[in-house]
Amino acid sequence: MKRTFNLSAGPAMLPTSVLERAQKEMLDYDGTGMSVMEMSHRSSYFDDIIQDAEKNLRELLNINDNYKILFLQGGASQAFYTLVMNLKQSGKVAYIDSGNFAKKALEAAEELKDDYGLEIDVVASSKEDGYKSLPNYPDTLEGYDYLHICSNNTIEGTQFKEFPIYKGIPLVCDMSSDILSRPFNINDFGMIYAGAQKNLGIAGLTLVIIREDLLGLNDVPKMFDYKVFSDKNSMYNTPSTYPIYIHKLVTDWLLEIGGLEEIYKRNKEKARILYDYLDESTLFVPTADKDSRSLMNVTFSTGNDELDKEFVAYTKENGFENIKGHRSVGGMRASIYNAFPIEGVEALVQLMKKFEEEN
Ligand SMILES: *Cc1c(COP(=O)(O)O)cnc(C)c1O
Repeated sequence: MKRTFNLSAGPAMLPTSVLERAQKEMLDYDGTGMSVMEMSHRSSYFDDIIQDAEKNLRELLNINDNYKILFLQGGASQAFYTLVMNLKQSGKVAYIDSGNFAKKALEAAEELKDDYGLEIDVVASSKEDGYKSLPNYPDTLEGYDYLHICSNNTIEGTQFKEFPIYKGIPLVCDMSSDILSRPFNINDFGMIYAGAQKNLGIAGLTLVIIREDLLGLNDVPKMFDYKVFSDKNSMYNTPSTYPIYIHKLVTDWLLEIGGLEEIYKRNKEKARILYDYLDESTLFVPTADKDSRSLMNVTFSTGNDELDKEFVAYTKENGFENIKGHRSVGGMRASIYNAFPIEGVEALVQLMKKFEEEN
């Protein structure tokens, strides 16, 4: 059997043990004679799965009862809108513009601006330097319903190491591409959200973790109301049952290997190997500024479009997939999320060295 080193930005690689477990349980989950895909979401079997998924997350992230965990659909892209609908109060909202997805969240708020009476301030932006670095944020901030930030800029390859925390302003964070990759303090945030297809499992599930006092602030259409989903334990309608099951297996795996401290150690080591080589290479140049670099998405290029193309083809011939960078940045991007193995990073660097020698 062949397993490719898949450097996709998402959907991305899953731990092999998770896929094997899913395979083993495909036709007969735990003696039920059913696949999880065939089960009623109201059954006791599925209830155990969703409760275990929540329990795992609470353990991994140290989440207390004053935060609610919601298993939703619609992707992070839908949350760009629903977070506005749920969290808006005075209408004054703040955004940090640090990359493509941060901008998309901002644009979603702009779409809702008139209907929701919003006053939107971009309090920090690194647009001017093409999002190669993270923007400096103000020392103080006051009077906003929330501050929105994207913790890891998937396309540009930059990542916040610390977060802007202002007393009285709920910090709302799109963590789609780095959640569960490192420890952080959930109590610093009003709400975090993430599509599952990078570090949490597979597409079709959107995780929202929200502080209890931020629920029920507004009259929101039921299907978009976080309070409705919280009151119904994410089962106001049929949740994405199979992605929740895979998410449960992924969090089982994380707990087994030693939790976020251990995965953080592994992620730092993988990124170090790649950046160390990029820093000494005379062919490849890292795209993001050194102090803004992401541990999850490593962006680089040769500075020559033709050579970039050749390199992308070269990696494909040698067992790698999806190293081509996003069209808005160009060059290459190696997405090395939690499940991407260190052996893959080592093999990639070997291949890059060989390509460098040949060119
Ligand atoms: C992938 C990604 C998104 C988009 O997620 P969808 O689930 O496709 O809506 C949003 N934000 C970030 C940071 C991402 O990496």
